[in-house]
Amino acid sequence: MLHLLLHLLVPAAIALCFYRKKALFVFGIMMAGMLVDVDHLLASPIYDPGRCSMGFHPLHTLPAVLVYAVLCVPSATRLLGAGLIVHMLLDTGDCLTMEQGLEQMRENLVLFHSGVSVKAV
Ligand SMILES: [Zn+2]
Repeated sequence: MLHLLLHLLVPAAIALCFYRKKALFVFGIMMAGMLVDVDHLLASPIYDPGRCSMGFHPLHTLPAVLVYAVLCVPSATRLLGAGLIVHMLLDTGDCLTMEQGLEQMRENLVLFHSGVSVKAV
C-alpha cells in the first residue's frame, strides 16, 4: 500500500518542488508513467504482491529503462522520461523491501538474457 502511495506522492513532490507554477500539468505527465504497468496484464496472476516487477514485466526491463533514460534528454519528453524513471526507481525500491526481492531481480535478469522476458507463474 505504501508503494502505491509513493507512486502518487513522489511525482506530486517533484511537481510541487520543481515546477510550482505548472505543478498539476507536470504531475499529470509524470503520472502517465504509471501506464507502463499495463504490462502486468501479460502476467498471471496480473498482480502478485510478492513478485518483483523489475526485469519480470517487459516494460520493466533494462532496455526499457534505457529508453526511459533517453526520453529524459529532449525537453519535449523529459517529464515523461522522468516519470518513468521515478516509476522504475520506486518499483526497484519495492523489490528491495520484499523478501527474496533482490534474488528475484537477479533471476529476472538471467531470464531476460536467456530470451525469456515473461515467465509462467
Ligand atoms: Zn511498475
